[in-house]
Amino acid sequence: MATNKKKLTTASGIPYAENENSMTVGPRGPILLQDFILHEKMAHFNRERIPERVVHAKGSGAYGTLTITHNITQYTRAKVFNQIGKQTRLFLRFSTVGGEKGSADTERDPRGFAIKFYTEDGNWDLVGNNTPVFFVKDPKKFGDFIHTQKRDPYTNCKSATMMWDFWSLNPESLHQVMIVMSDRGTPYGYRHMDGFGSHTFSLINARNERFWVKFHFKTLQGIKNFTDEEAGAMRGTNPDFAQHDLLTHIDNGEYPKWAMKIQVMPEDDAKTYHINPFDLTKVWPHGDYPLIDVGILELNENPDNYFAHVEQAAFAPAHVIDGIGYSPDKMLQGRILSYPDAHRYRLGGNYEQLPVNKCPFMVANYQRDGLMTVNGNHGSAPNYFPNSFDEIEADPHYKEPAWDLGAHTADWYDRNAEGENDHYTQPGTLYRLMSPEAKADLIKNIVHSMKGIDGPKKELITNRQLCHWFRADMGLGMAIAKGLELNLDETMKHMPA
Ligand code: NDP
Repeated sequence: MATNKKKLTTASGIPYAENENSMTVGPRGPILLQDFILHEKMAHFNRERIPERVVHAKGSGAYGTLTITHNITQYTRAKVFNQIGKQTRLFLRFSTVGGEKGSADTERDPRGFAIKFYTEDGNWDLVGNNTPVFFVKDPKKFGDFIHTQKRDPYTNCKSATMMWDFWSLNPESLHQVMIVMSDRGTPYGYRHMDGFGSHTFSLINARNERFWVKFHFKTLQGIKNFTDEEAGAMRGTNPDFAQHDLLTHIDNGEYPKWAMKIQVMPEDDAKTYHINPFDLTKVWPHGDYPLIDVGILELNENPDNYFAHVEQAAFAPAHVIDGIGYSPDKMLQGRILSYPDAHRYRLGGNYEQLPVNKCPFMVANYQRDGLMTVNGNHGSAPNYFPNSFDEIEADPHYKEPAWDLGAHTADWYDRNAEGENDHYTQPGTLYRLMSPEAKADLIKNIVHSMKGIDGPKKELITNRQLCHWFRADMGLGMAIAKGLELNLDETMKHMPA
């Protein structure tokens, strides 16, 4: 009997009759190889999982808009900022960093804050975190650092010994370690935390002048964190707390918002500023470079399918648009290479053709073929350049002003040479601006974590790290030593000078 219901079909669109029973020789006999539907179902199921991200595997995401409220056209010609009231659609993916795709949302960790702006000049990816700084300042150290956040090769468990061994040997990590050990390391979901582009980027205006820039997103929901105990309890009660929190608020029309702001540094200031402005372990103090209002970012649309949108979203700091450029920040330079490479491995060479990653305006180039080409492959248009047939040209208006890099001698320069080795002032300042309650929680969290250091090098690692805390702030060092129940006189004898 004909009905209005949709017919069940194979992936090739062929309607089929039987979706409950496999075809067998007699009711109790073996299954026939010709039951193609059975193969198709099992084979597709076997291929449902794609490689999870090595970092930032557990995430949540939503679509939204950036609305421009202030004029920053004296700094940038980027069209996304060219008019007050202008709205640009975006996709934002939040994540934890170290855990696997099934790990708990309330782990102590930085949080990813990756935004894809669908602008008329192409997709701009600002792939940041909820922290303004990072653990290392040279990308060569990235893989080693991430290994310390993952599982021990022997025990297959997370290891406080690995983490503190690495951090104590890399004092450049101290600033980020302090932030992650504070209660901001366990935010109350994703709505109550700030976001940062973290790297220094550049802005280029209509007169082709360059400015250095830091991007900030201040939560309008207010900062709210779990304590260490609350985060631990939530890991057992609802490991998907942040996913559920974000999804339900958007479903209920309570759209989370962030105020977008920038810090701007004139190009020449970088040569004389007392802090290396391209060092990802440092912030630009607000007193020197105040926050400038830009607009409001709002998340207002849940994707209708998690895998299609959140899992397949691919962000790359390489993707900047006209009016926004890179900087010599070494970590940014490293990520320009490694992010698209990660996506080609995880999603394939045509990952930018997937709906969440696709530029909704225009793509015109000579890239053709490859696995999973779904964009029509540019039809019968020429696949080489230059040619006498199409109207595609490289437009010199998009050219950035030349960079004065200040040196032309290639070498392996020590990233922590004299003048680049103050790992302590900014963490110390941060500690001293915390409320007494925030300080107490920070100390408790550090002590809790450092108590996990074990094995034959326990004393060495503990003392080495303690030395860094003392250098950041004497009071902090004393409090941690006390929490670890160390004999201070004995410990001091073993401290490096
Ligand atoms: P300000 O006194 O102008 O601002 C202090 C900043 O610290 C605010 O942005 C505040 O964020 C943030 N903050 C407070 N508690 C924590 C925490 N536990 N973890 C991370 N950030 C926190 O400071 P300055 O600009 O003079 O910088 C002083 C120190 O503040 C820096 O050394 C750095 O450690 C930290 N900081 C600075 C930022 C910057 O871009 N200048 C950004 C973030 C931190 P909020 O406004 O959301 O409360």
